[in-house]
Amino acid sequence: MRIIAQQDRCVGAGQCVLVDPEAFDQNDDDGTVIVLRPDPRTDAEIGRAREAVNVCPGRTLSLEP
Ligand code: SF4
Repeated sequence: MRIIAQQDRCVGAGQCVLVDPEAFDQNDDDGTVIVLRPDPRTDAEIGRAREAVNVCPGRTLSLEP
């Protein structure tokens, strides 16, 4: 499974970072998302990745199988 981020859609809301600060960070300049861990493996990591996709207000994040 892989986390995909469409940077041009990111509004810098930081919801993804709140859900999983080990998987996501924000660019210091414009607040856009940085995916630190694009390949969630454990059930817990995958669960947080799904939650981050669901809470992202910019519809920036998606998951590929
Ligand atoms: S929650 Fe979505 S819009 Fe906000 S920083 Fe993360 S990826 Fe960007």
